[in-house]
Amino acid sequence: MRDSGRYLLSGMMDCGVCGAKYVAAMTIHTNKPTPHVYFYCNNKLRHGKESCASKPVNLAIAEGVIMHTLVYTLLTEEEIKKFIQAFNEFAESDTEEFERKRQALAKQMEGVKKKWLTSSVRYSRALIQGAL
Ligand SMILES: [Zn+2]
Repeated sequence: MRDSGRYLLSGMMDCGVCGAKYVAAMTIHTNKPTPHVYFYCNNKLRHGKESCASKPVNLAIAEGVIMHTLVYTLLTEEEIKKFIQAFNEFAESDTEEFERKRQALAKQMEGVKKKWLTSSVRYSRALIQGAL
């Protein structure tokens, strides 16, 4: 699932093999409890693994490398403070978006539970009345 625009580095990295943009995509591993986000070469993502030999980059690793580089080699103390503030604002907006999605899903889940309960009651009544 492509999920660009939501991550700090979306659209900012180029593929070292073919030159296409790297884009964020969520990957669900069957053996891990939560989905992981990786950056993939957009060319490879759209046209298959034959189109580019690049490897995906884990989101946390990519952001960690960038933050380490910024903090230890490029920025002054004042710039680091501004960067941290900007990052916190970014993370907070992401959390608000996540909370909105969580509430929408909880509401949907409630609707599904009600439908399931109604169906269960109808099914039980039908069983009791010998209709099934
Ligand atoms: Zn590529």
